[in-house]
This record gives sequence, structure tokens and C-alpha cells, in this order.
Amino acid sequence: MKSRSITIKGHTLPLCARCTGILLGYLFFPFLFFFGLYFPLWLGILLNFPMVLDGWTQKRQFRESNNRLRFITGIVSGLGQSIIIVSFSQLIISFLL
Ligand SMILES: [Zn+2]
Repeated sequence: MKSRSITIKGHTLPLCARCTGILLGYLFFPFLFFFGLYFPLWLGILLNFPMVLDGWTQKRQFRESNNRLRFITGIVSGLGQSIIIVSFSQLIISFLL
């Protein structure tokens, strides 16, 4: 849906605002993993709630979201997913070592 993608100087990004945010949120992954920044798993799960709530309330037609909100909740969710992946990666590594 073109209206849900971010347009910069006439160029519309191929992903929607939410997915663009999630992708940017994944950029936290190497910092968490390689620099050993520790965040608890529950925080990773919690950080996904704003996006889920934003998407769910829109899908249920309680309200209409906007690209700024999709983008921001996407970044937060991407960070949360990075925390979840790093937590499980460290768990697996600690089992193997
Ligand atoms: Zn998307």
C-alpha cells in the first residue's frame, strides 16, 4: 500500500513505514550481540507491544494509524526482536560451551 510507505523527496521506499522501522530496529542487533549489552528477555517481549497494539487496533478498525507511529513502533519492535534473538542466542551458546 503506497500510502503506508515513507516517501523521501519523491522516492517511495519499497517497504511500508512499519517494516522500515523494524528493519532499522534490527541494526541494534550487532551492538547487543557483539558488545555484550544486556537487556532482559521480558523487555524484548514488552517492546513489541506498542507495534502489536498499533496494528491490532487498526485492523479492528478502532482507529487509523499513521506512518510516523508505524515507523516509531516498528523501530521499537525491531529493537525488542533483537533483544529476544540475542537472549536466545546467548542461551544456546551457553548450552554448547
Ligand atoms: Zn510492512
